[in-house]
Amino acid sequence: MEKVDVLVAGAGPAGSEFAFRMARLGYKVLVLERDSLDREKPCGGGIQTQEILEFGPLPEDVVERHIENARIIAPDGGLLEVPRYLEACGATVKRSVYDRWLSRRAQEAGASYLAHARVVAADLDAQGATVHAQTPAGTLTARGRLLAVATGGTARELMASLGFTFFKTGSYAVTSQYWIELGRDVIDERIGNAIEIYNGASIVPKGYAWIFPKRDVVTVGIGCDASVLEKESITLRRRLDHFLAHHPIASRKLEGGRVVRRDGGPIPFFVASRLTGPSTILLGDAGGFGNAIHGGGIYQARKSAAIAERYGRDFLENGSPAALEACAQASREHFNSHEGRWDVKMRPFFWEDDLVNMTVRRGAQGDQEIVQAMGIILNSDRSHEAAYRLLEPRVLDLVHDCLRERSKRQRAMVEEALAGLYSADTTLDRAIRHILFGDAKRVRASLALMAVEAAGGSAEAALPMAVAFELLHTASLVHDDIMDDARSRRGRACVHRIFGIDLAITAGDALIFEAYRQALSLSSVFGSEPVERVLQIFSACGVRTCHGQAEDLRFPLERATIRRYLKMIHRKTGSMIAAPLESGAVLAGAHPTWQEAFQRFGRNLGVAFQIVDDAIDYLGSEDKARKSLGSDLRRGAGSAMLIYC
Ligand SMILES: Cc1cc2nc3c(=O)[nH]c(=O)nc-3n(C[C@H](O)[C@H](O)[C@H](O)COP(=O)(O)OP(=O)(O)OC[C@H]3O[C@@H](n4cnc5c(N)ncnc54)[C@H](O)[C@@H]3O)c2cc1C
Repeated sequence: MEKVDVLVAGAGPAGSEFAFRMARLGYKVLVLERDSLDREKPCGGGIQTQEILEFGPLPEDVVERHIENARIIAPDGGLLEVPRYLEACGATVKRSVYDRWLSRRAQEAGASYLAHARVVAADLDAQGATVHAQTPAGTLTARGRLLAVATGGTARELMASLGFTFFKTGSYAVTSQYWIELGRDVIDERIGNAIEIYNGASIVPKGYAWIFPKRDVVTVGIGCDASVLEKESITLRRRLDHFLAHHPIASRKLEGGRVVRRDGGPIPFFVASRLTGPSTILLGDAGGFGNAIHGGGIYQARKSAAIAERYGRDFLENGSPAALEACAQASREHFNSHEGRWDVKMRPFFWEDDLVNMTVRRGAQGDQEIVQAMGIILNSDRSHEAAYRLLEPRVLDLVHDCLRERSKRQRAMVEEALAGLYSADTTLDRAIRHILFGDAKRVRASLALMAVEAAGGSAEAALPMAVAFELLHTASLVHDDIMDDARSRRGRACVHRIFGIDLAITAGDALIFEAYRQALSLSSVFGSEPVERVLQIFSACGVRTCHGQAEDLRFPLERATIRRYLKMIHRKTGSMIAAPLESGAVLAGAHPTWQEAFQRFGRNLGVAFQIVDDAIDYLGSEDKARKSLGSDLRRGAGSAMLIYC
């Protein structure tokens, strides 16, 4: 049995960087690689600038192209050129060549390599690790005082046999990639020395597509959070095919190309919960050190090995497991705490089509903060925190604009649907039209559709649900106005003042029944199960609102406490805002925890809304509010405003 100081499983960047460093310190190192040493690892081959700044330049014969800038392409075709942020620049490589360079470097420092040696098991103890590997010549057994597991993101069985849990959904991305031969001149002309990133959910939810140029081929890939595939019926490869065939910009750039290789694989980007075992450490993808925002992991793999060097030496010198724990701690510190996972926090900035369209447009119009932030993400040695700090205020502004645009669009959809409902020349339809088409804000309907879209569903398909809530809410206003004997609503005289109380009550009832009919019509698109759930939410909302209203009627100011008031508006208004949001999440097929979150958000929003509305009743102007005010005071009812006065 061969005995060494350091055994390394896997000859990728993590394994070879560690082998190089430990051999350089004079330790006897053996690297076992399941494949050949010049295998083509599925990878875009984009070398981050930080790697070059920290570990030095790559030999020219390893570099395919020096990358001078990046292009971000929005779903609407908008283009943001991100110039080089630093003097130094990144590069592209073929991993067969790059990884061979790293392994040669380690060999020159004294490390031994055995290719076609797949590690299948290991016995780990405090004194070292005995590793069993399958080779063409039979099973090889070797013992090392320290074992570095650098087997990337695919060695699920080996990791399990060593007692490490593999990555859970949500902690890694999945990818699919083609190598397309285009020829050097065509690449020079159409892409040049730039990497291209195609963001937005219409390309792929929670991910992006890329084109990375090499000398005469390009790697074109698509990657997304693994959780997306659980919900999506379409495969990633089909998404990629669709992107290649139909993307208006990418399809033209890649026209005439020949696919010469298809690959892909996982990219883990959350640091594993356990990074050490007896005499064992995890490095690179095996430890989950990838970057969550761009999916880069080559630099991170080498960095994890660089961090481990000092602790590996300490362990070999004194044999104390504390050295390995310190290594895990330092890696965690670097990849989690120091980086603050700003990459994770920024991911949603690039997920929404509208948001990406607007961000790219603003950047292209010269918003330097956006351009600079992109430069930091794609080409710098600065922490992602700096990019986050620049982007966050911009994105919040844009989210605001984006929501306004969306609610305008959704409101138009709701208006159109409502317009088709009450066109008859009857007194009842006239009464309903009178209240329905006044100066209404359609808040509940908009929230319902926003929830559907936020949870990944189609607003068009869910429109009857939004209409149903709008009708239910309108019915409650008609009845409420009768009880308050209000004068005006939605900028018009109240229905009962024009059509009389009896017809107003009937109009309210008719609105409620139509609301049910609308909700039921959803089953032709969504099937019976989600619609049954929506009807439950809908009915419970109606009942709760009635309870809230009944309490409001018996809520004299002298007995009012803030606690009772909040409970009352929680029911009266909270329900009617929570229910559309929750129903939206249900129709979009969101996870129950999301449905619950939407519901809670709606309830609290409803409470906040009612507190303000009650304050307006006391302080506001009827002109602005477009309804009659002062009813709380008139009937001596309690509200937050009056309780604290
Ligand atoms: C499609 C795709 C595109 C990517 N593009 C980029 C990019 O452009 N830029 C970037 O920085 N990162 C990119 N990444 C991520 C990057 O490839 C990885 O983060 C990086 O390779 C991790 O290095 P590593 O040494 O940890 O693992 P790997 O590079 O995966 O190396 C692990 C090695 O271990 C070997 N091995 C596995 N199991 C065993 C075993 N049982 N016994 C012995 N050997 C074993 C494997 O054969 C392999 O050689 C991409 C990833 C994918 C999937």
